[in-house]
Amino acid sequence: MTRYVALLLAGALVGAAALTVATETAVAAESKITILYDAFGNDAAMKKDWGFSALVEVAGKRILFDTGNDGDIFAANVKAKGVDLTNLDFVVLSHRHSDHMAGLNHVLTVNPKVKIYAPREGFGIYGSSLPASFYRKDESLPPQMRYYDGKPPEVMTFGTAWQGANFEVIEKTTEIAPGITLIALVSDAPGTRELRELSLAVNTPDGVMLLVGCSHPGIDKIVEAAAAINPKIHLIAGGFHLVAAPDDVITRLVTALKDVFKVENVAPGHCTGEPTFAALKQAFGNRYFYAGVGTSLPLGSSMGGGERRGEGPALEEDDLTSYRRLARREDPFGMRARSGP
Ligand SMILES: [Zn+2]
Ligand SMILES: [Zn+2]
Repeated sequence: MTRYVALLLAGALVGAAALTVATETAVAAESKITILYDAFGNDAAMKKDWGFSALVEVAGKRILFDTGNDGDIFAANVKAKGVDLTNLDFVVLSHRHSDHMAGLNHVLTVNPKVKIYAPREGFGIYGSSLPASFYRKDESLPPQMRYYDGKPPEVMTFGTAWQGANFEVIEKTTEIAPGITLIALVSDAPGTRELRELSLAVNTPDGVMLLVGCSHPGIDKIVEAAAAINPKIHLIAGGFHLVAAPDDVITRLVTALKDVFKVENVAPGHCTGEPTFAALKQAFGNRYFYAGVGTSLPLGSSMGGGERRGEGPALEEDDLTSYRRLARREDPFGMRARSGP
């Protein structure tokens, strides 16, 4: 190799390295999750309270996920982090529990027309509709004993608690923007049976970034649905709902996340529970990311997990089959402990 070629090569390598650094910095600066509401944290500027809210900045979008438990605290935390609520692509309300919704009035004061995705609930708080054919008719009755004098509208609409808000209710798992999917599942746990919940899955070059509100349908069920989008689960953040679960249930679930679903990184918060924080920290080590209120989690390859990049599907069918067998056992994941917010 001549000295000239060697110099050229060296120059090209330095240039490529500089370019890589610049690109990664740009990604890190743009893609992050900022926790705006939770009951733990180490940021003195933020107020702590039970509930959840996070700002997700990923794939060029700014998404507000849930709005906390108290409108005033939510507004104070939004201000403390300098978050501009007038500049959102959309809001996601994970479910109808008040510890996830109470800040919505504040959002609407600042940004009254913002698109809000919420789960479709029959006669729910977000508004709904049904064809008038849903109820039985009796034409032998006089008109004054009949609904709408016997002439109902074709579609009956039912109001929302936030009249005028721009809701779009989601019935089943839907890709709402390229790579951005709302996973719609229903809880079957006593206390929250039939409660519908949305989780946010963003398919990034590093795998799926999954943000969960309260995981009432079961964190395992939500992760399984996310794995159908892309079996490589890069990150799960949010509430795993194991706040009152016993140790054996926690152990089984942590093992499933790590060994069956091969989740790369976790950033648990909200209703995950203190013993579950400890168990996840022990299992995931430096792939456990602290996510107290006020934390900004940079997304992307800087989180690690790259050793598995380029492999095929992370889920092995054998693992999944035995996991499903296990999960069919009575109350395998502490469903009974899952009632409440
Ligand atoms: Zn909650
Ligand atoms: Zn809840």
